[in-house]
Amino acid sequence: MKDCLFCKIAKKEIPSDLIYEDKEVMAFDDINPLAPVHILVIPKEHIEGLQTVKDSHQEILGKLLLTASKIAKQKKLKGYRVFFNCGKIGGQAIFHLHLHLVGGWKDLPEFVELVRRRLGEGGAI
Ligand SMILES: [Zn+2]
Repeated sequence: MKDCLFCKIAKKEIPSDLIYEDKEVMAFDDINPLAPVHILVIPKEHIEGLQTVKDSHQEILGKLLLTASKIAKQKKLKGYRVFFNCGKIGGQAIFHLHLHLVGGWKDLPEFVELVRRRLGEGGAI
């Protein structure tokens, strides 16, 4: 996709804080972090979002999760969250599939406080 930000990052036309890369996936820091650690894991292939995946994407979907798990281990995250925002109403801002890996808070109270500050009482990320 010509005007896709993440395709440009995948092709290194735009620099990113690269954390991991292989033939199929890339991981880099989110420029607007929700947490002390906030990493995006993307397929290099342009896929609009989880809402448009097909059976043929099964392997790459598994790879995104496996990559997130490896990065979390490497970063020694004690607990973390992994999620996809799907569609505009689901909070998706860039229409190239990306997995969010967030963590790095020192304990559960710090995580709860972070969510409360960002989203208000009862908020969830
Ligand atoms: Zn793209």
